[in-house]
Amino acid sequence: MESTEFDGLVLGLAEFVRRDGRYPYPELLSHALNKLALEVTAVPYPRTLTGLLALLEKPVKNWYPRRSLPKEFDSDFGLLYEGVLSEEASRYFYEELLEQGKIPEFATAATKQIAIENYQFYKILARLQELYNNDTDPKRVQQEYVLLRLFLIKNGYTTPAELRKVFSKTRYIDIQEIGDLYEDCLEDEVCWNCDRCGPLFKKYGKLRGIKPSACNDHRQNLPYVRQITWKQGLRRLKFGIHLRICLPGIPEIRLFSTLEELHKKYPEQLCNIHLYPGIDRYDLQLCFCDKSTWAVDIKDYRSPYNLAPKLTSLFGEGDLRYDEGFYVIPIQRLQQREDYLEILREQVTKLPSSTHLLSDAVFEERVINKIEQLREGK
Ligand SMILES: [Zn+2]
Repeated sequence: MESTEFDGLVLGLAEFVRRDGRYPYPELLSHALNKLALEVTAVPYPRTLTGLLALLEKPVKNWYPRRSLPKEFDSDFGLLYEGVLSEEASRYFYEELLEQGKIPEFATAATKQIAIENYQFYKILARLQELYNNDTDPKRVQQEYVLLRLFLIKNGYTTPAELRKVFSKTRYIDIQEIGDLYEDCLEDEVCWNCDRCGPLFKKYGKLRGIKPSACNDHRQNLPYVRQITWKQGLRRLKFGIHLRICLPGIPEIRLFSTLEELHKKYPEQLCNIHLYPGIDRYDLQLCFCDKSTWAVDIKDYRSPYNLAPKLTSLFGEGDLRYDEGFYVIPIQRLQQREDYLEILREQVTKLPSSTHLLSDAVFEERVINKIEQLREGK
């Protein structure tokens, strides 16, 4: 068994779940399950569908043949969670398979359709990057990109009227292509949104978020859980866009807002903050009055082992030049696992010494210290 079998299993399950687990099984899944039955030796192979679904919810490290498990998959997760793809399986599906173009020939039309949908955002991104480098008005391209990106992070739901209002004057972004990143809600559907993790789904009578390891309490009376009133034309972010654009954007915007406050208070020390500079080469650029520049990228991964291979030197040419680079991890991740940074530093080998790994809380302190130093004229 090879890791392509694992990929086949994930793709098959993705499709199975999308059909709400109805028969017949996708061919891809039947094929993967047949192979699996021969290979699983760590536990007795379940004889019923219920037993099999229960097994698929267990951490894969406990039952999946270890030699065939791709190292990019965080094996503390199961493949399913409460009957849908687990957050790690979703991440793996989108980030490691779709975005790496690792869709096998035998993938079905439905999977290929998802790949195309997911690609829509990257198509816009690539076009804007190209324009940024060649157009006469890169500033405007940048402004419009930030407008789009912020809109997707802040609006898990939207309507055509709202899209027209926000994007009517954009020169490089078409309203229709933004609309295509959303899908129709059903008429009179009761929709919910979490301010911390975006659109919610109802599963077994409970509201469920897209990333339970980071946000899992969605009782309806909580202040950050809001009902969205249905209106004509209501649309919800497509799953892949929610997972890959909106969700990672939430900690990015949180840090940006905190820094904005500091900038407003100390504009003479922290002179400027650029969001997604150079059309998203990294997340934030901080410019201080002593002409030093910091580059920041925020990464919210549960496992330091999965994050480590994603960390490379931040892009630093032209206007994106920086003196210090920072990979910033939301503090919750470090609270969940005390040796997080230790493991990360051990695993990361390709970073220059001017790029630091730290939590968002420690990063904020560093910025405050820097401002203090500059105020004291040191
Ligand atoms: Zn949430």
